[in-house]
Amino acid sequence: MASGVSFSVSATDGRARTGALVTPRGAIRTPAFMPVGTAATVKAMLPENVRETGADILLGNTYHLMLRPGAERVARLGGLHRFMNWDGPILTDSGGFQVMSLADLRKLTEEGVTFRSHVDGSKHMLSPESSMEIQRLLGSDIVMCFDECPALPAPRERVADSMRLSMRWAARSRDAFGDRPGHALFGIQQGGLEQDLRAESAEALTAIGFDGYAIGGLAVGEGQDAMFGVLDHAPQMLPADRPRYLMGVGKPDDIVGAVRRGVDMFDCVLPSRSGRTGQALTRRGAVNIKNARHADDPRPLDPDCPCPCCRSYSRAYLHHVFKAGEIISSMLMTWHNLHYYQELMQGLRDAIAEERLDAFAQGFERRRAGGDLDPL
Ligand SMILES: [Zn+2]
Repeated sequence: MASGVSFSVSATDGRARTGALVTPRGAIRTPAFMPVGTAATVKAMLPENVRETGADILLGNTYHLMLRPGAERVARLGGLHRFMNWDGPILTDSGGFQVMSLADLRKLTEEGVTFRSHVDGSKHMLSPESSMEIQRLLGSDIVMCFDECPALPAPRERVADSMRLSMRWAARSRDAFGDRPGHALFGIQQGGLEQDLRAESAEALTAIGFDGYAIGGLAVGEGQDAMFGVLDHAPQMLPADRPRYLMGVGKPDDIVGAVRRGVDMFDCVLPSRSGRTGQALTRRGAVNIKNARHADDPRPLDPDCPCPCCRSYSRAYLHHVFKAGEIISSMLMTWHNLHYYQELMQGLRDAIAEERLDAFAQGFERRRAGGDLDPL
């Protein structure tokens, strides 16, 4: 591990682990969920409120920040933590995934990717070296290797070529990152749904040596069964003494299933994005606040949830402010959703520590299967 960064597992239950990834900016309790702060903000939330939900770490997006406001500008203004008023750890992605999904006129070569900004059409280049430099300027605590991944389903040959390119880029990322005490660099396993390619990728990454290992290229349209099929093997291919991060996942049941298969870290836009589109995620499953059944309902979203939204506001109010397009709708619903995710992670950590994860997962499934509160 980089000096100043450590990872320890304090308890296991089956393949699931609980522990902490410690950085100079604070400890990240694992299994951890990282809210997504794409453009230097978790949309509709103040950073101190995100902290109150129980989040230890945020994710920032290199692609968005390099285009606007620009990494050099963020560096001049004291780095991303100061800029966005979040003093805890920040993980930044490499830009690789988003340049493939958002940018215009992409050209992929061995060197990297040239593209035009989706914001203003300006021309840019991302490579392992430039991605490491941008993440350094941002001041990220956990830096991700620059990689490339195909949307699934894809032909095996395409998945294999892409994985091998990502492994060459991983070696270049490692060299470009250099030695930065207090900052961690994570490698990213690729290989799609192919177990032998996943194994080849894990071997290549382990030979290079990283502070943590991500499982990439999942949650890109393959479905939960196929994803769990990969996770039945992929985490065990990665070093047990390093954190394992499943990128871009996921729904609450994806997270529970992945934790049971040995994953330590997650990020997803789902709780914050759903909060802005009127979908609440609760222990009884998803609740669509737009539905007319809530218009006269004085009960909270979840009577057992201690978040500020559920403590003080009715479903009728949430329905009204959503319908009226009021900003507080996004604020309250996002707060609840992020609170629910962090409470789920705390529940998983406690269950692993007490070796009762199976019972926890059964209770989780039972409550979801029971569905939302009956209409009044
Ligand atoms: Zn709540």
